[in-house]
Amino acid sequence: MQSAGGSFRNASEGTCAFVTERLEQPTIENEDVLFKNYGTHRLSMVRGDGVWLYDDKGSRYLDFTAGIAVCSLGHAHPAVTEAIVRQAQTLIHCSNLYGVPAQLRVAKKLTEESGLGRVLFCNSGAEANEGALKLARRYGTRIRADKTKLISLPGAFHGRTFGALSVTPKPAYQAGFLPLLPDCASPPSLADVLQEIDARTAACIVEVIQGEGGVHPIPVSFLRDLQAKLREHQALLIVDEVQTGIGRTGEMFAFLQASLQPDILTLAKGLGNGVPVGAIVARQEVADVFDAGSHGTTFGGNPLAMAVVEAVLEVVSEPAFLKHVRELGEVLRAALEERFTNVTGRGLMWGFDVPIDAKEFVRLAEENGCLLTAVGPTRVRAVPPLILDKQHVDEFARCMDSILALPQVTVPARRQ
Ligand SMILES: *Cc1c(COP(=O)(O)O)cnc(C)c1O
Repeated sequence: MQSAGGSFRNASEGTCAFVTERLEQPTIENEDVLFKNYGTHRLSMVRGDGVWLYDDKGSRYLDFTAGIAVCSLGHAHPAVTEAIVRQAQTLIHCSNLYGVPAQLRVAKKLTEESGLGRVLFCNSGAEANEGALKLARRYGTRIRADKTKLISLPGAFHGRTFGALSVTPKPAYQAGFLPLLPDCASPPSLADVLQEIDARTAACIVEVIQGEGGVHPIPVSFLRDLQAKLREHQALLIVDEVQTGIGRTGEMFAFLQASLQPDILTLAKGLGNGVPVGAIVARQEVADVFDAGSHGTTFGGNPLAMAVVEAVLEVVSEPAFLKHVRELGEVLRAALEERFTNVTGRGLMWGFDVPIDAKEFVRLAEENGCLLTAVGPTRVRAVPPLILDKQHVDEFARCMDSILALPQVTVPARRQ
């Protein structure tokens, strides 16, 4: 395998007959049959190939969203496709009433990579955090009955289910859903977070780099202080690597780069390359407070998801692959720093400030053939597939230059 040369890209170029046939289905324009919470879409995607997405009109886009840091191996990666096809022909689902051999192989790999003891599979990031919070409360209340407090950081995002939302201190996300889970604290500053930790604290949940919060790295010195203070109070450190995990930051997990030792680690996005799957990884002593019947899920750890995770981990855990992520990450960082301010992140997870409204910037990028996400009023995130090549970064840079040359952008007229 070469580094920045192009060997990690999807080699397949052709479109199979089945896909072509499906492309000819007419698109229904009216979205009124759907809930309105995702708004009205400008684009509808029908096909992907490596770092490229194709819409229903046949236009091609350089995908720097990767399904929100999910499709790390790009679209239609042969190893993933092969795993899905093979497993679909064998066994898709049997529930956790029965053992699923691949769960053991995947769990072994995740425990080896993380240094933690046990794994429980689920289906999404929010669900992984939900389970982690339940685990922390159960662990805490065995120490003392009122050890139930769950602490989160300013700017955190942990998901949309009630538990995960209770530790996501964003008024816009919580509006209309109160009251949330009792005994959750989201202090306004990092210093206040340290102050909040006491004998009643069950756990603190953190992202090493806050993704939805604007690709905001949490200072490593704070994370170490946090870990020490939590230990002092027999409280757990939950590291939410739903977005940063599985190679995104250039190591298997971002906590390794901060030399942390989480008690609980949560994973999802990059784990299944688009097939829904999540995982809670925990120290054995912590995991063991869940006994038969404590927690569960029908679909979690199903054979189809496990076959895909096995395929993904095989590729991503290669030292050469992670090195490629770090190298391309530096190439992308340089391209961003030449053009934008406040460029932060690591590996292939970057945030940057744009001179106009971020949503408008993303729209202009779309028009110029490149997909990005807005993560703040003037903040944009780039999380391309990890199989990215140097030529794709060049292409991205050209797209950014076209946007930056537009009169409404060059004259930084601030839009409301
Ligand atoms: C996306 C995300 C979640 C939620 O994951 P879902 O699969 O959307 O439920 C939780 N935590 C972090 C850090 C995330 O980025």
